[in-house]
Amino acid sequence: MLSDYLEIVAMNRFTLFAWDACQITWAGLLGVVFLNGVPAVAAELPTTPIRVDFTEYREHLNAAIRQENDRVLVEWPTSRTETGFVTVNLTARRPLIESIAVATSGQPPKTIARDLDPVTLLTIGERDMRNPAGWVAFFDDPMSRPHQTYAVKLEPRSVRVSSAGVRSTIHIGEVRAGSFQGELRLSFYRNSPLIHLETVVQTGEDGRAILYDTGLTSRSTNWESMAWMDAENKLQSLKVGPETEATAVAVSGRTLAGENKLGSIAVFPPPHQYFYPVDEVTNLKFVWYGKSYQSLVDDFGFGIRQSPTGANHFIPWFNAPPHTEQHLGVFYLLTSGDAPRALAQVAEYTHGDQFKKLPGYVTFSSHYHIEHTQEFVRRQKEQHTGQVPKGMEVPGFVKTFKARGVNIVHLAEFHLGINAPKLTDAQRLPLLKTLFQECERLSDDQLLVLPGEEDNVQLGGHWMSLFPKPVYVVLNRAAGQTFLEQNSDYGAVYHVGSQADVLQLMEREHGLMWTAHPRIKGSLGFPDKYKDRDFFLSDHFLGGAWKAMPADLSQPRLGLRVLDLMDEMANWGLKKQVLGEVDAFRMEPDFETYGHMNVNYLKMEKLPRFSQGWQAVLDTLRGGRFFVSTGEVLIPEFDVAGKESGQVVELSGQGTAVVNVKLEWTFPMAFAEVISGDGRQVYRDRVELHDTEAFGSKTFHIPVTLKGRSWVRFEAWDIAANGAFTQPVWLR
Ligand SMILES: [Zn+2]
Repeated sequence: MLSDYLEIVAMNRFTLFAWDACQITWAGLLGVVFLNGVPAVAAELPTTPIRVDFTEYREHLNAAIRQENDRVLVEWPTSRTETGFVTVNLTARRPLIESIAVATSGQPPKTIARDLDPVTLLTIGERDMRNPAGWVAFFDDPMSRPHQTYAVKLEPRSVRVSSAGVRSTIHIGEVRAGSFQGELRLSFYRNSPLIHLETVVQTGEDGRAILYDTGLTSRSTNWESMAWMDAENKLQSLKVGPETEATAVAVSGRTLAGENKLGSIAVFPPPHQYFYPVDEVTNLKFVWYGKSYQSLVDDFGFGIRQSPTGANHFIPWFNAPPHTEQHLGVFYLLTSGDAPRALAQVAEYTHGDQFKKLPGYVTFSSHYHIEHTQEFVRRQKEQHTGQVPKGMEVPGFVKTFKARGVNIVHLAEFHLGINAPKLTDAQRLPLLKTLFQECERLSDDQLLVLPGEEDNVQLGGHWMSLFPKPVYVVLNRAAGQTFLEQNSDYGAVYHVGSQADVLQLMEREHGLMWTAHPRIKGSLGFPDKYKDRDFFLSDHFLGGAWKAMPADLSQPRLGLRVLDLMDEMANWGLKKQVLGEVDAFRMEPDFETYGHMNVNYLKMEKLPRFSQGWQAVLDTLRGGRFFVSTGEVLIPEFDVAGKESGQVVELSGQGTAVVNVKLEWTFPMAFAEVISGDGRQVYRDRVELHDTEAFGSKTFHIPVTLKGRSWVRFEAWDIAANGAFTQPVWLR
């Protein structure tokens, strides 16, 4: 027995320790006591351990994973100087994770935590399939219909280990919760301190909508304290014990860390994918710690959680169509450092919840129903002042956008508590004047606040408008009323009452319009229904806006709905663009804004000043000189045979070209795709990125054959479904 044990240890090519140290290492982690040279643990081992299938495992460049009786031992470099150790115990009714340890080079490993059980609570509800929207639901409320929360049950019956590039995964089957079943996956990435846990489950039932909470529990005390950054971004720490009551906490950065003298483990969700779409992005306490969580978990634990009721607005949850593998994912970051160190390390994956500054780009974010103007006017009345009301000197949304690294924000005012299209000149023009003045007052050399509206009349469905300067538009034109009149107080005032009026307005004022949330919410069926109309065919109709909606955890990317539309519009033969939109209400600094956000990186050297107009912003959008990102994946450079997005490239006779793309990322990447079309079909050339480590950047030169194609574009996604995509390059 001992000789077997030592032989397995010796086979481990990537052990960073000397032979003797290595024996001690694993012996220590397993709690083994050597008596006369025989590990005492041998006596307890069952005679027929589960046979772990290693056929898909390649140790080269990967975590060293091996079976030792009923245990699977994992050792992998968590950084250039540290090594992580995880012992998985496959014995039934024993904690699955026997130990998690970290060793700093040359030092023996320190066991941070022992006897941990991953727990996942799956809430299964119903999607309203009688609603014509079906799976593209937003205005839904599964909470109002029968639903049940299950603790996912794990019975280790079959275990296999697989590798791809520089990453390895242990698959443990099977797991069950209600009608859902599947496996638990633990993934390890070279030079990354993350343990990526996913409960991967599917159901045969139709019309299921789901939510999940997850975490690590343990019977004994592993943690001296829990620490987090509170919603005001201040560090909080609390002593805990095994009897500490279960509590949900509002944090910033979606992260909670357990700490003891030997190290810390921080838990956090995929930063964007975990958040189903909502209107109000309030902080709904997305982490938890304590004993008997939801009365479904016995021991003390800590993890991430969803609020089933949201902000009591529309709460669509996640789609779980039949026979789709739903990835209920979570990350654990381990460090020998303290909790603040762990929290700071996690923050790096989202650049501290900030859209990173890229030379040559400014960030643009659109579609916010802040309703600043109405609030401003209301408080002016309340305070009997014509000046800036007290408390509105620097509104919360301005602080939020600056903190998130947004350079240009495009508002969508007059959406709530007001019927904007019905407003008369007398009601509407003063409101517009206040909006324009406020946008100018709140703009500076860091943030340009642009007036805007989700107009939602005349064209059909919901749409956004953007002008290069303040323009007075009244959204109802009575019969006999002139289209354009000169008003002594406001100057040029437009009245629009038809699609032709809207197009004429856009032409005269060099504006842009686009479909808000295409094919979902108030735009169900659009832009398809008006795709042959003059206004849509016009250059002033930019295209459609992208957002991660509806949410489906079986997709390795976000917002497939509009990515597909982008391809279809290009195949319709139209040069349309897809920009990111956020479509949220208030944006206060203590809300969970980042999880719901995406941003457009506009290729512009400098931020325009409000007083000089912002035609350059519209030109950049219309010219397709931008990419969209959730923040973690960036595409600072992209060209096809030397032509950038929005430009036209002449293909060679064979139709071959090289796609040159520079990518930057934080999480390890998953894959990229070169997507092209010929007017009928869409073609995808997939590039696996399993060889990437976290926090990298690389320039790729991807040869592609594009004969007969009319457009080509690029997408890239990481292991947490964060991503970025370019606008098309047009082919001739
Ligand atoms: Zn809308």
